[in-house]
Amino acid sequence: MQTKIDNNTLMQLVLNNIPSFVFWKDDNSIYLGCNENFAKSAGFSSPEDVVGRSDYDMPWSQEEADFFRKVDKEVMLSGEAQINFEEQQTINDKSTRWLRTSKIPLYDDQKNVIGILGTYEDITARKTMELEIHQQNAELLILNDKLESINMDLEHLVNASSHDLQEPLRTIGSFVGLLEKKYGSEMDDKAKEYLKYIKGGSARMSKLIKQILTFSKIDKVDIVFESVNAKKFISNILRDLTHSINEQNAVVESDILDIYINCQQVRMEMVFHNLIGNALKFNNSQNPKISISLTEDDKSWLFEIKDNGIGISNKFDHNIFEPFKRLNTQATYPGSGIGLSICKRIVDMHGGEIWYESKEGEGSSFFIKLPKLIIMNEQVG
Ligand code: ADP
Repeated sequence: MQTKIDNNTLMQLVLNNIPSFVFWKDDNSIYLGCNENFAKSAGFSSPEDVVGRSDYDMPWSQEEADFFRKVDKEVMLSGEAQINFEEQQTINDKSTRWLRTSKIPLYDDQKNVIGILGTYEDITARKTMELEIHQQNAELLILNDKLESINMDLEHLVNASSHDLQEPLRTIGSFVGLLEKKYGSEMDDKAKEYLKYIKGGSARMSKLIKQILTFSKIDKVDIVFESVNAKKFISNILRDLTHSINEQNAVVESDILDIYINCQQVRMEMVFHNLIGNALKFNNSQNPKISISLTEDDKSWLFEIKDNGIGISNKFDHNIFEPFKRLNTQATYPGSGIGLSICKRIVDMHGGEIWYESKEGEGSSFFIKLPKLIIMNEQVG
């Protein structure tokens, strides 16, 4: 059996079930009606309690009531709806909500504006989140500014101290030279050996200072990507390292695809020089062997530099990619501990990854993964 309900009740039923807040006012901004959501959100038990009130009789603040009436007036005078604008509504000075409101002029049969229809949704949760994100972003910007200025101070400090440190080293170098030239013939073997140590020490110090400078400047210049032939690239690096390879009696096998990769050639050369140099250096095998390979998938290129050297003990929890982290400090393995941190910075700048797998005494493999999605600036090789 069908229940008969009159149009007004049906209309109120529809309005009460809309998951939104709805109200309508006359041309003096006096409430003519609303749905239950609206009445309840304003602290009334039914829509009838709202009828006949102005915004000044509602629980919002005076300023909000002024604003609501001002917008009503604009809509009624212009005859143009205002859709989805954001406003605030405070209930009894306690909780403030954010609303996304639309106000539409109501016309009679003669096309005269007789009031407005308003709807809104409560967007407080989203707005609070937005405001928090905004606040966090502002704090991050301040932090970023501070970090940038600390970084600039550090860079100046590194620059200044590096130049200041090179100066006394040059003095040591030239006086050692003079000492050798003038008194070399009078020196016994012990004195000559001591002099050799002084020269070796200052050469290492000079190299260390240069590496610190390189490390501090590496990400200061924009990276320019080129399309580089991987096979030629690796064989050029091996040619540069011929002397060290022969000195170590090492065998280097390279299985490099004849393909083009995207990278900044000069910087990537530093990475491979360092990794292959380490593979030769940290190696006490009778037959040092290094294998270099390149594989690819849809998204990336993967290089592996594998050695049969001393390996890296897993008991070291040092991150060897951090500056000055060295696991082997014996004189047989000279170095500064900066090489791998330079490699990591360069690989990071390429949007890539660098990591190693190793077992102490059984050798190490260093991996470099470079993403393929990099805009190319030039073609080289
Ligand atoms: P450096 O070679 O100047 O010591 P790196 O930053 O290049 O500095 O390397 C950091 C440390 O990582 C090295 O001191 C060494 O202990 C370890 N390491 C790097 N490469 C290898 C390798 N191929 N085999 C064994 N140990 C390695």
